[in-house]
Order: sequence, then C-alpha cells, then structure tokens
Amino acid sequence: MAQSNDIILTGIRPTGSLHIGHMVGALIPNIEIQNAGGYKKMYAMIADAQGLTDNFDNPERVRENVMEVALDMLATGYNPEKTTIFIQSEISELTELTFYYMNLVTIARLQRNPTVKTEIAQKEKFNGGVPVGFFTYPISQAADITAFGANIVPVGDDQLPMLEQAAEIVHKFNSIYGDTLIMPRAVVPKTKSAARLPGIDGNAKMGKSLNNGIYLKDSADEIAAKVKSMYTDPNHIRVEDPGNTTENPVFIYLSVFARPEHFAAFLPEYRDYNELAAHYERGGLGDVKVKKFLNAVMQETLRPIRERREALARDPASVMEILRRGTMDARAAAADTLARVKRAMKLNYFD
Ligand code: ATP
Ligand code: MG
Repeated sequence: MAQSNDIILTGIRPTGSLHIGHMVGALIPNIEIQNAGGYKKMYAMIADAQGLTDNFDNPERVRENVMEVALDMLATGYNPEKTTIFIQSEISELTELTFYYMNLVTIARLQRNPTVKTEIAQKEKFNGGVPVGFFTYPISQAADITAFGANIVPVGDDQLPMLEQAAEIVHKFNSIYGDTLIMPRAVVPKTKSAARLPGIDGNAKMGKSLNNGIYLKDSADEIAAKVKSMYTDPNHIRVEDPGNTTENPVFIYLSVFARPEHFAAFLPEYRDYNELAAHYERGGLGDVKVKKFLNAVMQETLRPIRERREALARDPASVMEILRRGTMDARAAAADTLARVKRAMKLNYFD
C-alpha cells in the first residue's frame, strides 16, 4: 500500500511495441499501483534516450515506438489523470544530472554491474565496441529516478542492480554535497502475473528482438496463428503420453491468463487450471485441445485492449497531447531537482 508522500517512477524503452510479457511483467503491476492510489505522484517515463544507447544507428525505430508504446500503455489502462506519462529526451535536465553523477561512479563499478555485463555479452551488435552511452546508462537511470524525487521504483528483478547503483549514487552525492537527493527503493511486484513470460518458441524470455512474442496490437488472426504454432512439451507425442506443464509455454500462459470464467465459457469439463494441468501431466489430454482453449483465453484477454488501442490510434494528435502535457509537468519537477543539485555543488554563480 502506497504512502501519502510516495513518488513512484516506472519506465519503458520504446524499442518495439509491447507484448504480453511486458503486460504481465510491467504494465499490469504498474496499473494496479496506479489504481490503488494513496501515493503523492506517479510518473511513467518513455525512455527514448536510453533506447538510443543501443539503437543509436536506428533513430526511426525509437521515434516510431514512442507512439506505439504510448498506445500500448493507454490501451492497457495507464490513466493520464493519475499518471504523468512523459518522454525522456524532452527533459534535458536529465542529461545534465547524468553528467554530474558521472563523477561519483568508477569505471570498475560500472563494469561490475551485472545487468550491464549480461546485456553487453548478449548484444552481438556491440562487436564494434560498447558505446560509452550504453555503458553508463545506469548513471542516466539514477538521474531519471532522482530527478523526480522517486522513492519507489517498481521493476523486474533484472533491474535490481540498477537500483542498487542508483542508491549508491544518492548516498555518495548526499554525503559529499549535503542532503539533497531522495533515496530510491526498488519494489518487485509479487503477484504471479509478474512472472517472466517465456516466448512462444519456448525461449526463457519473450523478447522484443527475439521475434517470439504475442503483441498487444496483434490481430485476432495473428494471435490464433501464433498460439497454433507454439512450442509445447516435445516429449508429449501421443495424446496418452504424460506431459510436462512447468516448461511448457502453453501451460505457463494459461496459468497466468486463464480465469474460472474462461473455463466455464470455453472448457467446462475442467473447473480451473489445476484440473487441466493435472490431466495433461497424467496423460490423455492433447495439445490441440489445450491450444484451442489458450487461443480463446488470449482472444478474450487481448480483444478489449486491441479495440481501445485502435480507437486511440485513430487520433494520434490526442495521444501526443497527453505526452506533451505529461512532459511539461515532469520537466518542472526535474528542473527543480537540477537547481537544488547545482546549488549543492556550488554551481549557482548568478543566484
Ligand atoms: P529491450 O530489449 O529493448 O531492453 P525489453 O523487452 O527488455 O526490450 P524493456 O522496456 O527493457 O523491454 O522492459 C520493460 C519491462 O518489461 C521490464 O520491467 C521487464 O522486466 C519487463 N519484461 C520484458 N520482457 C518480459 C517478459 N518476457 N516477461 C515479463 N516481463 C518482461
Ligand atoms: Mg530490457
């Protein structure tokens, strides 16, 4: 439950449109926090400048996806009356803060950041060398968090090292220049919907760049074709074979999305997920039947989101206006923090 002085910041990179992994791992938990209320302020940042750190050669991709991601967020339930949605690059105060924070972080510390380490190892496109901008993105993330005075940052567990590094920067800044910045705390959502969703190909992560996702903007036909092609248990060959449900994306998706109403409407022989999974595990339940059910569940889940998305997409000017207003609001908060930071650092010659 949020406290009345909590300031909450969430962020998403506009590097592709969003899929059901983002929906359960980030969008829904954030919307639940938004709707529960009780906080002082909630911000949602579209991190285009951060997206450029590993897509600097593809500015079109980042630009187009600002709109795509905004549509995904609004269609899923972000409410601009409750959440200030803004575009990172439009707030130049953030880059200025980043520059000052760079003095507080060593090269060795950045090299030790586990998230940076894995991401650098994963990205074949860094063959030509890792850009300094990408290498230092934990510092820019600390700027984003502190600029808005966020004390609560909801993240996936892959982002915990970033928050640790941001907390170190805050601690160091405050101890050198005096108490100025708010200490942030990571909050990892505990709901089952926050689980990391695997790809339709069985890859451990549904990823924007892996081409293994079901997207919020996918048509009904695209969803049906994707569900039909999904990876299941490769050892479940004949219907009577016992099946594995724990490493089977079809069952993982069902465990996250299938509700009792779905069973009642589309598969009344089973009361709930546990009954269905038990049957598959002991054998006698075929993949085609389970996939048909999953398709019905995904269609029910995604249809209202897609319809809202299509309606919003018909009026892009209104969406841009939401982002413009959010950005102006966010900029005022960042400007205030930057002024306090510069004063603390004795960079206020003309005051
Ligand atoms: P990129 O490859 O550009 O980093 P991404 O798909 O990782 O793209 P982000 O914007 O970095 O997208 O992630 C936004 C949030 O979505 C993060 O909190 C992340 O944990 C969550 N997320 C991404 N993919 C999944 C997934 N398959 N299951 C659950 N959560 C996910
Ligand atoms: Mg990512």
